[in-house]
Amino acid sequence: MGLRSFFKKDKKQEKTTDEDSHIDINVDDCDGCEKCVIACPNNVLILDDESSAVNNSFGCKRCKVCMAICPNDCITIN
Ligand code: SF4
Ligand code: SF4
Repeated sequence: MGLRSFFKKDKKQEKTTDEDSHIDINVDDCDGCEKCVIACPNNVLILDDESSAVNNSFGCKRCKVCMAICPNDCITIN
């Protein structure tokens, strides 16, 4: 395997893992208040189409600040 294909494969794996994130957001209950996005010290979350979404699960340190601040109990950190 060449170096280029190695990195390509690595990126693909990263994406798959990101989709299987340990951060679970119940978007049905999310009102898009953005509190979690602002509170996360590691810029893990973004506002996507008026609800919270995971932008970079690898940056998450599992501090659970987002869980604590969400007024609708939408976020679970596993
Ligand atoms: S657990 Fe902490 S680092 Fe992870 S998304 Fe929530 S606020 Fe950000
Ligand atoms: S704090 Fe809760 S309700 Fe507000 S954007 Fe984040 S997940 Fe949605």
